[in-house]
Amino acid sequence: MQTENNILTDSYKREHSYLRISLIERCNLRCTYCMPEHGIPLSPRSHIMTYEEIYQIASTFVRNGVTKIRLTGGEPLIRKDIGVILKKLASLNVELSITTNAILVDRFIETLKENGIRNINASLDSLDAEKFKHITRRNDFKRAFDNIHLLVKEGFNVKLNVVLIKGFNENEIIDFINLTKDWPIVVRFIEFMPFNGNKWDMSKLVSYASIMDCAFKAFSKTNIIRLKDAPNDTSKNYKVSNYKGNFAIISTVTNPFCDSCNRLRLTANGQLKNCLFSSEENDLLTQLRAGKSIEGVIQKSVLMKKKIRNGMNTNKSFSNEKRHSKNRSMIAIGG
Ligand code: SAM
Ligand code: SF4
Repeated sequence: MQTENNILTDSYKREHSYLRISLIERCNLRCTYCMPEHGIPLSPRSHIMTYEEIYQIASTFVRNGVTKIRLTGGEPLIRKDIGVILKKLASLNVELSITTNAILVDRFIETLKENGIRNINASLDSLDAEKFKHITRRNDFKRAFDNIHLLVKEGFNVKLNVVLIKGFNENEIIDFINLTKDWPIVVRFIEFMPFNGNKWDMSKLVSYASIMDCAFKAFSKTNIIRLKDAPNDTSKNYKVSNYKGNFAIISTVTNPFCDSCNRLRLTANGQLKNCLFSSEENDLLTQLRAGKSIEGVIQKSVLMKKKIRNGMNTNKSFSNEKRHSKNRSMIAIGG
């Protein structure tokens, strides 16, 4: 429990107990909504946090009240020292989890288990191999799908992230929900969000309301159960009656959940972001490398956090492309 003047409590009394750490800016896929067509300028290798630095920064957050850490990227499993990072962070008193595109998951089943990782978010935007190839610019559907199935068989708690894009995959909503008939997973539909270079516009959005319309039509309202959301949950949770798994919607665009936000984000080059949509960052790594305490910088960042989506309170302001052009591309934030 954090105290009132804890460095992780912001001006709106939100307590930040959840840290997402991006381990790498690179990826083995090239999802069009995440990575710009011509890639992103990568940080020099010497600017990327080492595993010791990740551990030191994470420890400081844990000392100040973080109870949950999620590793993300880029693709976290392509980092060569991922085993060491998992081991170091598993020694902290924290719930450790990972978000992955699942391409390499089969090589890490034992490592994940050994380090106490139970919760895995895997990303898959289509159940059709050709469409997968189109969106990821890589021909790896079978590996991704088989590995997600492997995680289910191995007993991990799997949440499957599906970014919906109009005209591309919204016709697969029901196929994805039907995966939950026999698989005890949560399929999470994510509203497509704007980031630098991802050609977002509102017309490509598949909204929370339209996803629910589609589900109600297919299963009828009486067969869909609204579940209780966990505290700080970013998703609205549902279930088709008698299905083993659930489905959920992350409606950052049409129904933001900033009031209960408890997240901070650390980029692979050691910058702290207080909001997914904030272009302002605070440099923890330089401070750490200078041998100075990072707590003051963390507090400064937390106190700068705006109430809603970095000040973009309305859909009009949020839809303005210029408001996102100074932010990073998603691949360099980590989701
Ligand atoms: N490579 C890993 C993966 O794909 O799961 C982890 C990093 S990825 C940036 C984390 C999550 O962000 C993925 O589930 C991805 O679908 C989601 N994401 C990326 N760009 C997005 C966007 N523009 N709108 C919504 N979600 C996005
Ligand atoms: Fe890579 Fe994940 Fe981004 Fe796709 S969503 S390009 S898998 S980081």
